[in-house]
Amino acid sequence: MNAPLVTVDELSVHYPLGRRLIGKTPVLKAIDRVSIDIPKGSFFGLVGESGSGKTTLGRAILRAAPISEGKAFFRDGEIEYDLGQLDKAQLRDYRKRAQLIFQDPYAALSPRMTVRDIIAEPLEVMGLTKTREETDRRVREIAAKCRLNLEHLRRFPHAFSGGQRQRISIARALVTGPKFVVADESVAALDVSIQADILNLLKSLQRDLDLTFLFISHDLSVVAHVCDYVAVMYLGSIVEIGPTRELFARPKHPYTRALLSAIPSLDPDETGKAQRLAGEIPSPANPPPGCRFHTRCPVAQDRCRADVPALEDAGDGVSRVSCHFWRENLPG
Ligand code: SF4
Repeated sequence: MNAPLVTVDELSVHYPLGRRLIGKTPVLKAIDRVSIDIPKGSFFGLVGESGSGKTTLGRAILRAAPISEGKAFFRDGEIEYDLGQLDKAQLRDYRKRAQLIFQDPYAALSPRMTVRDIIAEPLEVMGLTKTREETDRRVREIAAKCRLNLEHLRRFPHAFSGGQRQRISIARALVTGPKFVVADESVAALDVSIQADILNLLKSLQRDLDLTFLFISHDLSVVAHVCDYVAVMYLGSIVEIGPTRELFARPKHPYTRALLSAIPSLDPDETGKAQRLAGEIPSPANPPPGCRFHTRCPVAQDRCRADVPALEDAGDGVSRVSCHFWRENLPG
């Protein structure tokens, strides 16, 4: 495993919910004491249901959501940033080095700007180029890498399909030369055939430009296809983390097993084996005590309702799991 480009250490994002005159102010714990290392050059997947905190974690690392407690670091060669303590100059520099690809290629692009201007905007806002010729050169360079037709740079976004629009979004995110990219459900709004095309593009850009991706998705079959590592989130916490192949072959947490069982299979013997989880994900404003998953866990025991399980080494030195009984509950 390469050294981490991003390290998240016991990081929390809490939002106060109004004010109380008596007692404590209620708090929504969107992220609670999460620790992960994102290795340099990796495609790191973050999965979980809607409301699990995936997007908030990505935004906190990009400094677009407030870090309430804990630390996050970005380390690239000589650069070392404590992301909770950036001064103005460091934040400006970090914005260049860490970028976001949005989910919705239809909403993310201004309909009044040409493709050239959309891609050029981050360069101009951050003052990264000095002349229009230099900006144009950079725009053309990154557009070609994103396999956009250079003849189309003068057109407006409405002239393009969803897949082409997502290429424009990707070019805009990469034009500043970032090393770290958060791709938040970046193929979820696209047809399946276009998804594969965009995923292949992201993988080739990763190699060509030496990028590290945090790939946020609710779709495990997509994650299995592209990611080197996966972290599974539930209600603001990591419940399991490990190399993709190991996690998909031997899931240790009951929540991971339930998510994997819901992936559609072409094998008729496998269909109908999806493990339905009881109930809805609880509110992060009022998480259950003990193991947060105990209200939906099919193998919960008394201890689970009182003791918070640690995220412990799962025996291979790389994978970790947060369950009191993961050894006992391993299938077979
Ligand atoms: Fe289920 Fe208990 Fe493990 Fe939580 S600690 S996942 S409730 S068995």
